[in-house]
Formats: sequence, C-alpha cells, structure tokens
Amino acid sequence: MIENNCVFCKILKGEIPSVKVFEDDKMLVFKDIEPKAKVHLLAVAKDHFKLLEEADEKGRGLVSYMLFKIPQIAKENGLENGYRLVINQGDDAGQTVFHLHIHILGGETLPW
Ligand code: AMP
Ligand code: ZN
Repeated sequence: MIENNCVFCKILKGEIPSVKVFEDDKMLVFKDIEPKAKVHLLAVAKDHFKLLEEADEKGRGLVSYMLFKIPQIAKENGLENGYRLVINQGDDAGQTVFHLHIHILGGETLPW
C-alpha cells in the first residue's frame, strides 16, 4: 500500500526525484539527501508501514529480503570494508520519515 502524504511513497512513485542505486520489485535504494557519512544510502520497502511492529506478513518478508540483499548492494557501492545498518523506530530514535527504511552508512570509519 502507498500513502499519499509520505515522502518515501512519493519517491517510490517518482513524484520526488532521488539518486537511485538499486531497485527491484521489493525495495528501492537511493542516496540520503543529508548524508551522515561519506556513503549514506536508504533502503526503502515498497510497502508503506511505519514501524517493525506494524509490519504484516508481507512487510516482514520485505524486511527480511532487504536485510539479506543489502550486503550485495553495499559491495556494489564501495562498502567492502564494512558498513552500519540503522533502523530508527519512533520519536526517541529521531525517526522523521514514517515509512520503514534501513540506513546504510559507511565509506569511512564510523564514530559510535
Ligand atoms: P529517519 O530519521 O530514520 O526517519 O531517516 C529519514 C532520512 O530520510 C533522513 O536521513 C533524511 O535525510 C532522509 N530524507 C528525507 N527526505 C529525503 C529525500 N527527499 N531524498 C533522500 N533522502 C531524504
Ligand atoms: Zn510511505
């Protein structure tokens, strides 16, 4: 399902531009507009749900697929030396876009 007022749904529909690095029927990966590391990609599920706890069976399958597809995408984007995955969940984590996404951070030694 796609939600009208969601920035990532708009990117999925092509209504907002993005710099895509990978796309298939389950996920889109593009460059974060405000990178927090030398390489900062966002893997976005092709289904709109806010939190892991809100994922239905399809959403759970998507998240699992994304997690295990990311190593290939990371390598293709120069992250052979490692990378960090972050999934912000809710306000205390500072989540700003309420559409499940996985941050892929790397390209340098990351501060904890
Ligand atoms: P989060 O804080 O986990 O919800 O992450 C949302 C991320 O989306 C932030 O790192 C933003 O910089 C990024 N972001 C917001 N709008 C866009 C956009 N139009 N294109 C690319 N990245 C975006
Ligand atoms: Zn959405």
